[in-house]
Amino acid sequence: MARTHISGFPRIGAQRELKFAQESFWRGETGESELRELARQLRARHWRLQQDAGLDFITVGDFAYYDQMLTLSALLGALPERFGFDAGRLSLAQYYELARGNAAQPAMEMTKWFDTNYHYLVPELSAHTSFDGGVEWLFDELDEALALNVPVKPVLIGPITYLWLSKSHVPGFDRLSLLPKLVNRYSRILEKLKQRGIEWVQLDEPALCADLPAAWLEAFSAVYDVLGTSEVKVLLATCFDTAAEHAQRVARLPIAGVHLDLVRAPQQLDVWRAALPSHAVLSAGVIDGRNIWRADLRAIVESLRELHAEWGDRLWIAPSCSLLHVPISLAAENKLAADLKSWLAFATEKLDEVSTLALALRDSAAAEPALAAADLALDARRHSSAVVNALVQKRVAAVSDAMAQRHSPFADRNRLQREALDLPLLPTTTIGSFPQTASIRQARAAYKRGELRALDYLQRMRAEIEFAVRRQEALGLDVLVHGEAERNDMVEYFGEQLWGYAFTENGWVQSYGSRCVKPPIIYGDVYRPEPITVDTTRYAQSLTPRVMKGMLTGPVTMLQWSFVRDDQPRSATALQLALAIRDEVVDLEKAGIRIIQIDEPAFREGLPLRKSDWAAYLDWATRVFRISAAGVGDRTQIHTHMCYSEFNDILPSIAAMDADVITIETSRSAMELLDGFGEFAYPNEIGPGVYDIHSPRVPGADAMLRLLERACEVIPAERLWVNPDCGLKTRGWPETEAALTNMVRAAKALRAKLATRQPELAH
Ligand code: GLN
Ligand code: ZN
Repeated sequence: MARTHISGFPRIGAQRELKFAQESFWRGETGESELRELARQLRARHWRLQQDAGLDFITVGDFAYYDQMLTLSALLGALPERFGFDAGRLSLAQYYELARGNAAQPAMEMTKWFDTNYHYLVPELSAHTSFDGGVEWLFDELDEALALNVPVKPVLIGPITYLWLSKSHVPGFDRLSLLPKLVNRYSRILEKLKQRGIEWVQLDEPALCADLPAAWLEAFSAVYDVLGTSEVKVLLATCFDTAAEHAQRVARLPIAGVHLDLVRAPQQLDVWRAALPSHAVLSAGVIDGRNIWRADLRAIVESLRELHAEWGDRLWIAPSCSLLHVPISLAAENKLAADLKSWLAFATEKLDEVSTLALALRDSAAAEPALAAADLALDARRHSSAVVNALVQKRVAAVSDAMAQRHSPFADRNRLQREALDLPLLPTTTIGSFPQTASIRQARAAYKRGELRALDYLQRMRAEIEFAVRRQEALGLDVLVHGEAERNDMVEYFGEQLWGYAFTENGWVQSYGSRCVKPPIIYGDVYRPEPITVDTTRYAQSLTPRVMKGMLTGPVTMLQWSFVRDDQPRSATALQLALAIRDEVVDLEKAGIRIIQIDEPAFREGLPLRKSDWAAYLDWATRVFRISAAGVGDRTQIHTHMCYSEFNDILPSIAAMDADVITIETSRSAMELLDGFGEFAYPNEIGPGVYDIHSPRVPGADAMLRLLERACEVIPAERLWVNPDCGLKTRGWPETEAALTNMVRAAKALRAKLATRQPELAH
């Protein structure tokens, strides 16, 4: 009989209880004991859901007060030395200081968890890291779970993934040298689990699905040779991609079972089936842990039948990965269209899907009603007129290579644009948004509650736009923006005005710490019924003789920050998005807008885990961007914007996007990024961010001037723009004005310097 389990459940709470409890603790309104009590209730509730669904195990160890990597660092006793904390006696207040920084120390670095939108805290290791033990929270949680008298399966991030994702500030330090100490610590943890009567422990090693170097693979074998012989059975869990090439290696290890992501990488099943020894457990991750669609249960059952006949109770059934990446429950959704809602499964519903699969393998008659209900929903989805739009299909079929190409090459466009725009050397601009003030947020909330009529809301937003335009004029910026007052979120704003998009009321997913996002759902062919930003942008342009930059979100970012269809490739959805944005770009041009920015902050994060899959992604991603941009004439200048990721390894693709100007985050790395752009000889214009917008600190004009001078060393001044790192919506007006005053001053100072050196440049 197949056994059922999950890799992890979202910890934030259906009403985001953990978020609110954390924030109240941070404000000092509640104490540690209240926060701990709330956490205990959440865990109990989530275990109860797993029990109610009839899963064979409840999963422990997926809870974290902020982040699971940080919690693991605290358990291992591997905290950054610079904080001076005793890991064994870490208080919750100190735990949060690690995550958020304190007066003396900046926070630990945060970065994305594989190709998800979840951010973890990067362990900081050094030769002194001893792993000699830390907080015992895991064991307390385990005791809570054991009190329920059901089989409990703890889950921990495995040592190789932990080390792989960690960092050392000592140049040249080999993290693998820490492995013996680390394995020791894991062994002791497993021993303690055994003492509590635990039979199985799950060790998550998604790093196996990344491109691990040979030395790391050897280390992997060495580690599990040791951990596999501990008295607890180890379920080695992979996810997010295939691990097929490691099947032989894993099969030689004393490991009791393997979990595979068969949603992302179903093709790996046969390899593993053949490789694994006859006592091993195979946990089939067949329910999509990364997306919100109801599964085709009947098809999955059929695909598992033979395997089940062969493997019996050595076959386990699970979601593909932790359910951390999907919202908690459909029960909280009252406004979704009934048909769409019936096509979805959030975390709670996925628990039932997992147990239905096991039931169907054991007793098909008993599972029939649940299977039939899934069939019905799936069938409705397949034939729904809300999904397929003939108009879109026709346009997609007619897309030609010419549509992905501007009329003339950059050099020719550049000449025409210089004539048309008549901008000074080193033009100054911003990335799009200005402060989202309390008055803007209040107006939007009142409008959403129906207390403000649409026209009154429009009036309020226009007043905000005029305010932003006047301030930019006073600051002396060269290319203005309308300030994005009317946008709550750069994806939601556009999605709300496109067919094929739906929005949940409570579909929150943890992004990091207390921060949650509510990704929209793309369920059908994407189509733009009418212009979205044209009136607003035209209005903004009418206020000023200066150039007003139109502001759009690009197709890749729209895709990346939404839950997307699973009934067509991502690239197909991206193409539909590109066509919708292309229409908007063309309409903006017709309305007299001469510069249009298509933001792609999520361009880099769409990269697949495996380098071997990069080229295919970059190929369609650059193409859909070009299709969104290339509907305009040569004189219209297309900008794009990217931020907060490593760009140096994808520079040729960024160049292939062929935006006339790219504005990009650079100031936090003191312009290191620019070296990449210099070496690669990036051909078009660039605005390297000259100050970090994530802090209220106002940088001096001198500091910005120095950054600009460095930039001039690698990029000719004629191709440089001057702008902040990113949008200013999270900032207040006083610091924004102060910083931009300095930025304009820095640009002017450099223009003056250059004019004395190269008089022909100054005009
Ligand atoms: N135009 C957007 C803004 O200024 C860009 C945001 C982003 O890069 N994430 O807010
Ligand atoms: Zn940005």
